[in-house]
Amino acid sequence: MAERKFIYAFAEGDGKNKMLLGGKGANLCEMTQIGLNVPAGFTVTTEACLTFLENGWFPDGLMAEIKKHMQGLEKATGKGFGSDSNPLLVSVRSGSAMSMPGMMDTILNLGLNSKTLPGLIKQTGNERFAYDAYRRFIQLYGKIALGVSDEQFDGAMSAVKAKHGVTQDVDLSAAHLRELCDAFLSIIRQQTGKPFPEDPYEQLEIAVQAVFRSWMGKRAIDYRKQFRITKDMANGTAVNVVTMVFGNMGTDSATGVGFTRNPGTGENVIFGEYLANAQGEDVVAGIRTPKPIAEMAREMPEMYRQLADLRNKLEAHYHEVQDFEFTIEKGALYCLQTRNGKMNARAMVVTSVEMHQAGLISKEQALTRFNPMLLEQLLVPTLSARFSGKPLAQGLPASPGAASGKIVFDADTAEMRGNLGEKLILVREETKPEDIHGFFAAQGILTSRGGKTSHAAVVARGMGKPCVSGCDRIAIDVREGRATVGDAVLHEGDVITIDGSTGNVYAGEIPTVEASFFDEMNILLGWADEIARLKVMANADTPRDAERARRYGAMGIGLCRTERMFNDGDRLPIVQEMILAENREERVAALNRLLPIQRRDFKGIFRAMAGMPVTVRLLDPPIHEFLPTAEQLEFEISHLRHLRAAVRDMEELPDTLKMLDPDLYLSSIASLEKLRSSLSQYKESRLENAIISKKEAILKKVHTLHEVNPMLGHRGVRLGITFPEIYAMQIRAIMEAAAECIKENIDAYPEIMVPQVCTLQELAHVHAMLEDIRAEVEASYGVKIKFKFGSMIEVVRACMRAGQLAQVAEFFSFGTNDLSQATFSFSREDAENKFLPMYNNTGILQDNPFEVLDVKGVGRLMDMTVQWGRQTRPDLKVGICGEQGGHPESIRFCHFIGLNYVSCSTPRVPIARLAAAQAKLKENDYGKDIYA
Ligand code: PEP
Ligand code: MG
Repeated sequence: MAERKFIYAFAEGDGKNKMLLGGKGANLCEMTQIGLNVPAGFTVTTEACLTFLENGWFPDGLMAEIKKHMQGLEKATGKGFGSDSNPLLVSVRSGSAMSMPGMMDTILNLGLNSKTLPGLIKQTGNERFAYDAYRRFIQLYGKIALGVSDEQFDGAMSAVKAKHGVTQDVDLSAAHLRELCDAFLSIIRQQTGKPFPEDPYEQLEIAVQAVFRSWMGKRAIDYRKQFRITKDMANGTAVNVVTMVFGNMGTDSATGVGFTRNPGTGENVIFGEYLANAQGEDVVAGIRTPKPIAEMAREMPEMYRQLADLRNKLEAHYHEVQDFEFTIEKGALYCLQTRNGKMNARAMVVTSVEMHQAGLISKEQALTRFNPMLLEQLLVPTLSARFSGKPLAQGLPASPGAASGKIVFDADTAEMRGNLGEKLILVREETKPEDIHGFFAAQGILTSRGGKTSHAAVVARGMGKPCVSGCDRIAIDVREGRATVGDAVLHEGDVITIDGSTGNVYAGEIPTVEASFFDEMNILLGWADEIARLKVMANADTPRDAERARRYGAMGIGLCRTERMFNDGDRLPIVQEMILAENREERVAALNRLLPIQRRDFKGIFRAMAGMPVTVRLLDPPIHEFLPTAEQLEFEISHLRHLRAAVRDMEELPDTLKMLDPDLYLSSIASLEKLRSSLSQYKESRLENAIISKKEAILKKVHTLHEVNPMLGHRGVRLGITFPEIYAMQIRAIMEAAAECIKENIDAYPEIMVPQVCTLQELAHVHAMLEDIRAEVEASYGVKIKFKFGSMIEVVRACMRAGQLAQVAEFFSFGTNDLSQATFSFSREDAENKFLPMYNNTGILQDNPFEVLDVKGVGRLMDMTVQWGRQTRPDLKVGICGEQGGHPESIRFCHFIGLNYVSCSTPRVPIARLAAAQAKLKENDYGKDIYA
């Protein structure tokens, strides 16, 4: 067998093989091969990394191969690795198949030592630059390869600055930096017990090993877990050894990061930031606040022209927005890295539409470019336009959306308080990759330093969380737990609001409003609707919800839960009266009062959804849910009894006072007598007795209705059969509302759905009731009502009897909340707070089945149900209305088993529309081994 090749020069590596070369390595190879100006370099493969991690040492011959490639670099650059006259310096960069920004390590300026340093001074004629490069290298190498903490170096830096009265890094002279290098070298000697390694090949070997190891570092592991990056997606990191080019070689040098289009708005202009005379890490770490790239057109016009040219070449080649890093060394522009740009949802939508319209991508590519869940960001709240309060401070609008929360100053506290359910804003001078757990816990991020491409900004954008960066009016004192803005002092726990779209920071909680659709979103979702086979409906319960659902592009209502209407303030007392009724007559009397209210509700919904189906589910929950709990009632009854005793005692107050203090009695006789008379009046009205007996009656009913397992109890169709008057009232309200709509020329199309069905007989029973009422209503209104009758499928037996149910049901709607509960025997009320998180963390279950459809179990059951149902009734309409109906991967499965529609909460409707189109476009690569 041929020996495995562990290293590829940029000129030879396969730019498509990200699994082997990592995203960065593959792109460096590809960019080199399409003729972009990339510094010479090579990639050590992820396979070498995995072998190293498994054995603890390099695979055989790897170091020899590295040396051979280093000689290639020496030849390409004309420099010598370790040379004292013209030294070659390299960077050693991580890069796995999936982008994990800042999660793994990178070392710069490798190859510097006491011998090559004078060579660098000679080569550049810039002593300050050389010492600056050297001190950066010692610190980075010390931290990453030798495990010496940053604080040691930061302490030495502060000491040198203080000694020479310097405040900014850039004001340190060559002599100061030389002093700093000596201090750094002694820190290394002290901390590791050994001198700093002088041999460049020893430096390189240790550095490559350290980058390999960073794949298994805590940060990287946490990140993979959070973003569900599995081994199939990225396994090990590659290492890229790249010739150093320097952006800090004078005013004709610069470094920066760019996006080929604006990643916050999608606008078709080059976007980014740069710093003249600086190194890349200055930009990324937010140590200096960089300038917008637009300014480069004025400051370095020729370089700007070259940059625009680079940007055009990148987009023309990758057909995708690129996020690239560049360095200008003495007037020469180098591209150091490119990858597909992470953009917020708005930019993704806008660029999808514009790139298709410009002929860069097909419509199919425009629709499959991003995960539909990203659209959720567009439905994030923003500050109300009417709000005109003055901000406390303004920073850079780094990631859009508004969020309020309590201030926390460090990631650990954010994690702890976030776990307790608090809403938080993480406030820091700048963030670092090790703060990632704080980002997960916070609603938004605010930093006092750094630009729009600082760590905080990039990570927040990727997560879709609001972020304001570079807000330099805020002085943060982490130790004191305090931030000062002018005269205002904010403490941990104080509430602030940040607006990541404007950069404003406000004190207190500011009201927010929902996002609205913009043109490109409508265009893109319009394309999605043309392609998708699945229809997207909304779960909506009120006319207002229905109007909103329609604005979001819902094609009907897939679930209207009528119990939500029962809970409204004006009807709850009538519903309770109906429940407390002693006999059928009393119950019917209460229901007759509910009828017009329900009819009005349904009419409002039909009107909002005119021309589209509205699936109304008859009452589902156990009726005790409309009564207070026994604990609440017992508490109130005992409170009222105490009140009665207190009134009795107060009545005796005048006599008692007369006895104890006659003077006081005489002076307050008038008011005391008044009190006595009102109390006796109150007693006579026996108000509290009436309330107590009413509450006692309700308590008795609550006890009667008590069930050990109410979710498996007297609910759904069981309720409708034992108390037929309830379903009869609801069916009549639906039919009469539809009849009234027809008379008013509104195209109403009700679909009546029965919950919790498990036998054909149950369904037939309700159907017979419906037929009677329909005939009556049609006769009395003189109209013909178009409607469908169907069944929820949320009980396992209903799945097994699908062929029979379809004899009566014209449609099925999978209630996958209950069906998942029933299939797993996991209580949907409790599982998520008890064992499910542990099941997910340990991989016993990949996902939460109440969020993501369990394809192998619940899904398979659904697949069989659809087939059996359609054997009986080939045109059986089938949909899903459980929460999973708004989850893109679950929607893909629904397409696969041939459902007609998915129904989900309104904010998920746009997501589902795009997911439905993607399901259609990707149907050919889905389905194999799905139940394996
Ligand atoms: C379901 O069970 O999936 C469903 C939609 O009904 P509910 O959540 O109201 O029980
Ligand atoms: Mg249900």
